[in-house]
Amino acid sequence: MRRKKIYEGKAKVLFEGPEPGTLVQYFKDDATAFNNKKKGTIAGKGVLNNRISEYLMTRIGEIGIPTHFVRRLNMREQLVREVEIIPLEVVVRNVVAGSLAQRFGLQEGTPLPRSILEYCLKNDELGDPLVTEEHITAFGWASIQDLDEIVQAALRINDFLCGLFLGIGIRLVDFKLEFGRIWNDEEMMIVLADEISPDSCRLWDVETNERLDKDRFRRDLGKVEEGYQEIARRLGVLPEAGPIDLKGPNMMQ
Ligand code: C5P
Repeated sequence: MRRKKIYEGKAKVLFEGPEPGTLVQYFKDDATAFNNKKKGTIAGKGVLNNRISEYLMTRIGEIGIPTHFVRRLNMREQLVREVEIIPLEVVVRNVVAGSLAQRFGLQEGTPLPRSILEYCLKNDELGDPLVTEEHITAFGWASIQDLDEIVQAALRINDFLCGLFLGIGIRLVDFKLEFGRIWNDEEMMIVLADEISPDSCRLWDVETNERLDKDRFRRDLGKVEEGYQEIARRLGVLPEAGPIDLKGPNMMQ
């Protein structure tokens, strides 16, 4: 069976879905960092991120935040609603790390006095530059009303996920969200899109501060696969057959 590829990103492929308004989101093992300068594969990552993102999107949907997630189809694929993606990466931070530490010369691991929200423009050529609300509204990437909805959703998701992860001994240091628009006739709805996984979150063990996320790949910390597996295991979504299960079906095009 051949399917129409709609879009191929660094870690995922989007195919035409079975019904109008749906897409199939396929999770790859490929990993990139530092704006594509570092490339590699993380064995089994796609299978784990598919499960982890399914779990987190489902829980977030249950607290009343609309998401694009419909259902998981198989090891590496999930059915999602087609959205018009808002070209922003919305980053929520609870603890200093990564580019925030670099930008201001701060010590990684310092708790923030309150959660900080940042926006980056989704544009690989420009290296996803940090942008302000002024840029976003002036250039029409989102309206003030859209941003208001996005901020409310992002902060609720942050509170909810902080508690969820703390319950399994993990500190949610920071994470990135993407949102999209769905139209019903003239009515527009903003929904959470993309994925939530160790690719897009910093997740540190509460006791040891061990990093259990993509920073293991970015910083060559070793045991990269194990980090993703540990998050899946603690969330209770590690495939039962363990690593044997991790290859999944080959991608169909
Ligand atoms: O690199 P930086 O510190 O700005 O990343 C903040 C958070 O956003 C991290 O959890 C990182 O995994 C996530 N992120 C992402 N995709 C990007 C940039 C950052 O998922 N393109």
